[in-house]
Amino acid sequence: MQKVIKNNWVIGNWKSNPSSLTQAKSLANELKCIDFDRINAQIMVMPTNLHLTSVLDTMQDTSILVGCQDVSFTSDTIGAYTGDCSAEQMNAIGVKWTLVGHSERRTYHQESNEQLIVKIENALKNNMGVVLCIGETLTEYEKRQTLNVLHHQLAILKEIKPLKNNLDKLIIAYEPVWAIGTGKVPQVSEVEDVHQNIHKYLLSINEHLAKTPILYGGSVNADNVESFAKSDWIDGVLVGGASLIADKFSSLAKTFFATKK
Ligand code: PEP
Repeated sequence: MQKVIKNNWVIGNWKSNPSSLTQAKSLANELKCIDFDRINAQIMVMPTNLHLTSVLDTMQDTSILVGCQDVSFTSDTIGAYTGDCSAEQMNAIGVKWTLVGHSERRTYHQESNEQLIVKIENALKNNMGVVLCIGETLTEYEKRQTLNVLHHQLAILKEIKPLKNNLDKLIIAYEPVWAIGTGKVPQVSEVEDVHQNIHKYLLSINEHLAKTPILYGGSVNADNVESFAKSDWIDGVLVGGASLIADKFSSLAKTFFATKK
């Protein structure tokens, strides 16, 4: 299959870390001091909502983007939705990207595909891009159900009405659930096969999704990132644990982009 040239991404998902605003600011400040500009690549960090405005302020005038980890399903706008943060509010503070469907949200918040459709629409309506996370559990992997599971998760894209006018606002992150935070990673060749299949599936939805970046996530670190970056089918990485220490994340990102060149 012919490979299309796409944008490359290194994204750090901070999850519910670190424990204080002071620590979040200092992580952001350390990252800000690293010269990522020269590698001319797209780096994004996704702090918890509490730390968003502070990290946004720190990253102003840098090439590092700041995204959020979720947007409200209940409504895309303001109103009586206790505890929610809407896409409109995220956009208003300058957040232009959100994760949707991370496996931890699917598991701990029982997020259904129907809810994910609404979340993606809410984000797109507010001019935000979406990093849609998909992936199979260990049992599904062992039963060789990976592709079926992924197709089911990707099929929601067919339902998203504003997608056809926002094709550049979608990134897919393939994250096998069994690789997240476990130190276990699939073979690069397995990830490549899956990514080719995702690419084909996206084309079947809309031929203009050919340029949608497809990232790998799950226990990526500074030591193994080169093997993923070498693949033409891996357009970036979504990083959890290894994004919380500035010099580890920096060396991971620099290795990724140096290998891609
Ligand atoms: C993640 O949760 O998106 C992730 C990839 O985590 P980790 O890198 O810690 O496996």
